[in-house]
Parts: sequence; structure tokens; C-alpha cells
Amino acid sequence: MSLIAEKFATIPPSQTLAITAAAKQMRAEGHDIASFGAGEPDLDTPQYIKDAAIQALQDGKTKYTPATGIPELKEAIQAKLLVDNNLEYDISQISVNCGAKHSCFNAVLACCDPGDEVIIPAPYWVSYPEMVRLAGAEPFFVDTKRENGWKITPEEFEDSISGRTRMIILNSPGNPTGAVYSKEELEALVEVAASEDIIILSDEIYEKLVYNGKEHVSIASINEEAKNLTITINGLSKVYSMTGWRLGYTAAPEEIAKAISIIQSHTTSNPTSFAQYGAVAALQGDQSIIKDMVEEYDMRRQYMLSRLSKINNVEVVEPEGAFYFLVDTTKMGLTSMNLTEKLLSRYQVAAVPGVAFGYDNSVRFSYATSLDIIKKGLDRFEEFCLAH
Ligand SMILES: *Cc1c(COP(=O)(O)O)cnc(C)c1O
Repeated sequence: MSLIAEKFATIPPSQTLAITAAAKQMRAEGHDIASFGAGEPDLDTPQYIKDAAIQALQDGKTKYTPATGIPELKEAIQAKLLVDNNLEYDISQISVNCGAKHSCFNAVLACCDPGDEVIIPAPYWVSYPEMVRLAGAEPFFVDTKRENGWKITPEEFEDSISGRTRMIILNSPGNPTGAVYSKEELEALVEVAASEDIIILSDEIYEKLVYNGKEHVSIASINEEAKNLTITINGLSKVYSMTGWRLGYTAAPEEIAKAISIIQSHTTSNPTSFAQYGAVAALQGDQSIIKDMVEEYDMRRQYMLSRLSKINNVEVVEPEGAFYFLVDTTKMGLTSMNLTEKLLSRYQVAAVPGVAFGYDNSVRFSYATSLDIIKKGLDRFEEFCLAH
């Protein structure tokens, strides 16, 4: 007899976490590991944000808050969505969740029934398919093409719709591809979604990390139809280096917002009280730290692009957002698990196998790490590529 529910029997643990753990273990044993595995910023949370949370603790803000967050934070999010994203939401449409990952899960759970299909463009962020399965629905993968910059086209979207399609998950700027959809591309996708009433889950966690003068556009801002179908998801983890604080948020049509509030009130209650005060400070504070951070990431990105594009047996698309390169390793003919294991054990380089993102002929290199480590890691990766 199995002690766990059937729905968990087929759900694997996160593979991105597994490789990070193996690299940590080797480092602890004294190996000099160059890690491209990070899925989080290498910078510390800014001091003014920490100070606000410490102050909140000292002021006794240590009890339950409203399930969907403190009013101050929801107002700060409302103002942010208006200024940054040209999106006007009522406070009642906004909910604060325990990380953007939790926001995504709540959204899927609120909207999807068993038997529903959710379109997920691949390569995708690791957790989307499993969230869909946990909700009892089924992921429907659409393999995007490198020559299309890893973006789903309106034709591909349309062709993948069935009578059971309920939702599409979009992630721009994207993890692991770094792809950023333009306004025109989003408009074309909205047209398809609106014609079939398909809900759009828009994960915008990397919104601020865009390069080459590229502009992030929130799909809900395209038009009223888009807004009425879209759940806009964002958070503080990536942009303010607050991954451990567990704060994300959702802005959605009233009906969906209400369902999310109910789910949350019966599961997590509220996001951590004093963390929410830190988030208010983050959103209302001096945003110039973001500019410095983007410049730093952009410098690393350009360096990696210049090196990776010179290596013969790999191919990359220039990422325009987030902090990852999806390196296409098709020419090496190794599975991504095999490749990353060899790369780690023989060359002391950690990267995430593409199989975790639904594209086995690739590895993901994060540049949320210092330029020194990037240089060392790429020297080793070059050697690895020459030998394969
Ligand atoms: C990191 C990440 C998240 C989750 O962020 P948290 O707020 O830390 O839960 C969501 N989506 C994508 C694509 C991410 O890479």
C-alpha cells in the first residue's frame, strides 16, 4: 500500500533544486565549483527594506493580517500596477501571496477543473506543469522554436486549442529562455485568447530585468478583453533580491480574486506579517537600485553572449530579459542530465539540465553570479565543448 496520494506518484521533485544541491555538496567537500545554477539574485536585500521589516517586528506587527495582505501593501501594489504597467485594479482584485510561485498555484487552482487543458509554451519554468497536474488539470505543451526566439506564435497557440482548453501560461520576460514578448506579439495572442475565452496567466516576475532598450508590456494592458481574461502575477523576489521573504501578488478579474482569497484563507491564511511591511518599503522606496542592478546583469549578459556565441557546438538566442541563457546543445547529442552531470563532476561547472524545462537539448546558465565565476565557468565550459 502506498502512503501517498495517487496524484503525487508521478510528480518529480524540482530538478533545478537537485543540481543546486549536488553543487553545494561538492563545494562543501572542497571542490572549486563555478555555478550557473542560481535561480535567484546574488545580491543582498537592500538595507532599507530590511529596516522596515525589523521596525515592524519591533512595533509588534507579529499577528495574523487579512488573508490577502495588509491594506498598505495592497495600495502600494495598486499604485505600482498603475504607474509601471498602466493597469487600473480595485484593491479587491489584488491579493498578496506567499511568493509568486504561490500566486501561480493559487491562480491555476482557482480556475482549472479536472479535465481542463492548460497550454504551456516550452521551454517553460519547471513548476508550471506540476501546478496544473496538482490542480487535476492537464498541461498541453507547445514546443516553441529557437528561430522564433522561443516565443509561441498566434498560429501555434490557435492550433493547440481544444474544446477543453481553459488557460494559457505566459512568462515574459521568460525563465529559462530570457525571451521578451513585444506589444505587437502580445496583441496577436490576445486576439486568439479572446476569441476562445481562454484565461491568461501572465507571470511577470522578471518585468524589470529587460535589456537592449526592450520594454516590458503587461498583457492585461493591451485592451479590456485582455484584462478581463488575465491574471497578472508579479512579486518581490527577483527585483528586490527578496527570494526568502516569500511575497508575490496577483491582480485578477473580481471573480478569480475572490476565489484566490478563499483558497488562501483556508490554506496559508496570510503572507508573513512583518515581511509585508518590508515589501511596502520596497515598493515605495528609491527605485534607483533597480537601474544599477539591471546594468550589472546587462554587463554579465553581454560578456556571456560574446563568449557563448563563439563556441562551435552550441547555439544561443540573445536573451532580452531575466538572467538566464538557454544554451542549445543539440549538436553534442547528449541528454541534458548526462551533459550536466559530466559538466559538474569532470569540469566543476554547475548548470541546470534543459529536461527540467521541457527541452532536453539544452542547459540553462544563470548569470545571477559574479563576473569572476562567469569567466572561470565559461573557460571550463569551452574546454568541455571542445572535448565533445
Ligand atoms: C523565481 C520565479 C518565480 C517565483 O518567485 P517567488 O516569488 O520567489 O515565488 C515565478 N516565476 C518564475 C518564472 C520564476 O523564475
